Amino acid sequence: MALMTGEQYIESIRSIPMEVYLFGQRIEHPADHPILRPALNSVRMTYDLAQLPEYQDLMTVISPDTGERINRFTHIHRSTDDLRNKVKMQRLLGQKTGACFQRCVGMDAFNAVYSTTYEVDQQAGTCYHENFKAFMLDCQTRDLTVDGAMTDPKGDRSKPPHAQADPDLFLRVVERRADGVVVCGAKAHQTGILNSHEVIVMPTQAMGPEDKDYAISFAVPLDTPGLFLIIGRQSCDTRKLEEGTLDVGNQEFGGVEALAVFDHVFVPNSRIFLNGETSFAGMLVERFAGYHRQSYGGCKVGVGDVLIGAAAVIADYNGTAKAAHIRDKLIEMTHLNETLYCCGIACSSEGMPTPSGNYMIDLLLANVCKQNVTRFPYEIVRLAEDIAGGLMVTAPSEADFRHPKLGPVIDKYLQGVDGVPTEHRLRILRLIENLSLGAAAVGYRTESLHGAGSPQAQRIMIARQGNLAHKKALAKALAHIKE
Ligand code: SF4
Ligand code: FE
Repeated sequence: MALMTGEQYIESIRSIPMEVYLFGQRIEHPADHPILRPALNSVRMTYDLAQLPEYQDLMTVISPDTGERINRFTHIHRSTDDLRNKVKMQRLLGQKTGACFQRCVGMDAFNAVYSTTYEVDQQAGTCYHENFKAFMLDCQTRDLTVDGAMTDPKGDRSKPPHAQADPDLFLRVVERRADGVVVCGAKAHQTGILNSHEVIVMPTQAMGPEDKDYAISFAVPLDTPGLFLIIGRQSCDTRKLEEGTLDVGNQEFGGVEALAVFDHVFVPNSRIFLNGETSFAGMLVERFAGYHRQSYGGCKVGVGDVLIGAAAVIADYNGTAKAAHIRDKLIEMTHLNETLYCCGIACSSEGMPTPSGNYMIDLLLANVCKQNVTRFPYEIVRLAEDIAGGLMVTAPSEADFRHPKLGPVIDKYLQGVDGVPTEHRLRILRLIENLSLGAAAVGYRTESLHGAGSPQAQRIMIARQGNLAHKKALAKALAHIKE
């Protein structure tokens, strides 16, 4: 079975006995919890669309390893076409969910670990690439969703892992056994781990020789003893517990993040992809971050499409659609959004093969892509709020709207243009609120800043990849300066 249906995916996640906490309580059935279910629905979309003939080329590929049709989210990129199609697939999913659909972190971890393990093995004589390939083929064959866990809590940012007051602030090996290792630590901001079958753990930063125990990469299933999840709080999350659907804004889809705790988790040797080779930690981080920075040139653009559409709809409902400044604001939003897409496509088109044979994006352009993503969605949100008007944050609740006395009053005073029901106006305003300030803003606005690395992380890479020496030489040549 190389492709699961959406329903099979939901059932497969439901059957994993995960240890999950939310609001101080253990959640026995996360797949059916009203706050958590929308995020599961978003990942489900990666399965549902793969079943549709019109999306087959974008959502699936024939695996060069198994010869079977597999979901692109489990694929190893073999060309610049693959890299571009990845971005296009992510834009499509952003459009269909208006949320973070989570499955990309595993795809990006797959491709980073694939090439890095190959190069570690070449140099260190290890067998990590074979370990990883066996894991990867299993994920492809069973069409699994995989989380990619990189970000450690990091404690005192001025100190390396081994110098932290609490040694667990970076995930580490605490025991080495003949059959594997035992690890302790945590991974923060884990997008989608709750909706994943497996998690790939990677080191969080470049490391020195003293950080040997911290240079560890591996994969474990979500029901591994000692692994538990504390779900992150999101703005407006408890609206999902209320009666009615209007106030949620996007009732069907969402994203989810968790603090994933590894309390003495055992990892068998066959599931280890890096173990003490500190000099390769930086390479793995750089590659994973690069792929995920490319990803943002797809997913955030798709969500941006929804927000631009919502802004245009509310302009229609408000009767402002023909105003020149509104039209110009929609043009500006489109310009910013398509600029992000250009970056995603450009870093893909300039991709190159690694020694392992898979394709890497152009790292400089991928970092420029993500740097723009730390800015443009903020401006797109600002313009959407401008077009929407203040009612977006002052409108009464659905309970008031359904109330026998208040409902008709709200209906009368909050209507816009003739012929459009007040409820439609409220619905589109709540969607804009959801994307700009509510639960989905975690995945659109703030995640645009911090996801795939905060702005400064990209600036470091831009400095490293920008080749300033070459630019100086160009200037000196034209100025006829001979030193
Ligand atoms: Fe995918 Fe975007 Fe979510 Fe990352 S932020 S997992 S790229 S949808
Ligand atoms: Fe993200």
